[in-house]
Amino acid sequence: MDDCIFCKIVSGQIPSQKVFEDDNVLAFRDINPAAPVHILVVPKQHISGLDEVDEANSAVLGPLFVAIAMIAQREEELKMGYRVVSNVGEYAGQSVGHLHFHILGGRHLDLKMG
Ligand code: 5GP
Ligand code: ZN
Repeated sequence: MDDCIFCKIVSGQIPSQKVFEDDNVLAFRDINPAAPVHILVVPKQHISGLDEVDEANSAVLGPLFVAIAMIAQREEELKMGYRVVSNVGEYAGQSVGHLHFHILGGRHLDLKMG
């Protein structure tokens, strides 16, 4: 997608602080962190959000969660726990239309929802 910020980060057009990368997944630090550790995990394939996941593209999800688990094991500040969030749509405050999971940690997390 030409006008997608995260596609541009995946292609290297926009620089990012990479945490993890393999053939399917890129993880990088959020530019506006909401916690001491705030990492975004995205599929390299453009999917607009969890609401666009279907039987044809659902294979992207497994590698994302494998990456999340690996990152959590590597980041010292996530040892005490962390939260994984994906905002979907307007009411949830999704601001970038490319599927992504936030990994948040490094402090006690307030506002427990779910
Ligand atoms: P959302 O609001 O869609 O759930 O999450 C989008 C996240 O992307 C936000 O937390 C925002 O700070 C982050 N973000 C937006 N643009 C950039 C960017 O250019 N680089 C990085 N590293 N993060 C970004
Ligand atoms: Zn994209």
